[in-house]
Amino acid sequence: MSGPRQGRGGAKGRNGPVLTGVFGDPVEHSLSPAMHNAAFRSLGLPFLYLKFRVPVSSLRAALRGVRILGFRGVNLTIPLKEAALGLMDKLTPQAERVGAVNTVTIEGGRFEGHNTDGEGFLRSLRETWRFRPRGKRVMLLGAGGAARAVAFALGGAGAREIVIVNRTPGRARSLARAVARATRASVTAARLWRGTPWERILEGADLIVNATSVGMKRGETPVPPSVVRPPIRVVDLVYSPPTTKLVGAVSRRGVRAMNGEGMLVHQGALAFERWTGMPAPVRIMRRAFRSAMAGAEKGGMRAHFGGPRACVTFARPIEFKSRRV
Ligand code: NAP
Repeated sequence: MSGPRQGRGGAKGRNGPVLTGVFGDPVEHSLSPAMHNAAFRSLGLPFLYLKFRVPVSSLRAALRGVRILGFRGVNLTIPLKEAALGLMDKLTPQAERVGAVNTVTIEGGRFEGHNTDGEGFLRSLRETWRFRPRGKRVMLLGAGGAARAVAFALGGAGAREIVIVNRTPGRARSLARAVARATRASVTAARLWRGTPWERILEGADLIVNATSVGMKRGETPVPPSVVRPPIRVVDLVYSPPTTKLVGAVSRRGVRAMNGEGMLVHQGALAFERWTGMPAPVRIMRRAFRSAMAGAEKGGMRAHFGGPRACVTFARPIEFKSRRV
């Protein structure tokens, strides 16, 4: 990485900050502004990250808008990640494979669509446990957007076997076929929700990844914690609440387990690196994320963000609506 890239507007301070942000609907809950603005501030970069509520029907117009305004890039969250595919000038191989864009870079007026979720997940495994998927057997719960990113990343990183379990078996089967075609991993879909004994499915597994939304409500768990025993490790991609029932219960049984914070921080760090051309200050991003999360948990989903110097609290994102798309 060579050094900070300047926005279209040029050098620091001349034309205001270099703009970045997140589009989503809803987007109120996003803690990404806290994470990115803390990172920009810590490195003295004249960048600013904002959040915008953009419905799918306005995505094309919103992208055109940020191009005209000279944004360096944006993150996309639900429900825009898939809708953006057809609006990019170029897709990275990861975005193309996963079928979703979570980060857009804008260079010379052209949109490049990236997907940093899978690499963010791998980085979090390496950082926390020095865990490398090569040769490992992984049980993946879920077949939605997060599961797709994780499955392709694990397959690409040399996992020996991936077993996908999903409430809707057809989605697990189609994801298994796609990952098996694209990587060397042996990928199968298992029907767990219909009563197959967990113990049999988990035999020989090195890692369980929960990529379902089960666990977001307190007290629910996608796997009975009593069947999870060391040396299996558990990653629950849910990060709110920070300690899901699954992570809490298996940790007490001596199983190494973490939530989705690492993946979230690292996918953000990778976006930061694409936009700025500089290594991301991961520790600062994590600290900012945790503090925003603690604030959000306490009351009201308010994200704290500010420019290079200021720190402003916004209760609501900027609304973006358009009739013509
Ligand atoms: P998604 O595309 O909507 O997929 C949801 C998945 O959860 C599907 O596999 C769905 O099964 C399953 N599911 C939902 N309700 C269920 C239930 N009651 N019982 C069993 N399965 C159920 O969502 P996503 O974007 O993949 O997100 C999934 C989770 O990952 C969310 O909790 C999200 O917060 C988390 N996530 C974390 C990160 C991170 O960086 N840490 C990034 C992305 C997502 P069906 O196919 O049967 O509907």
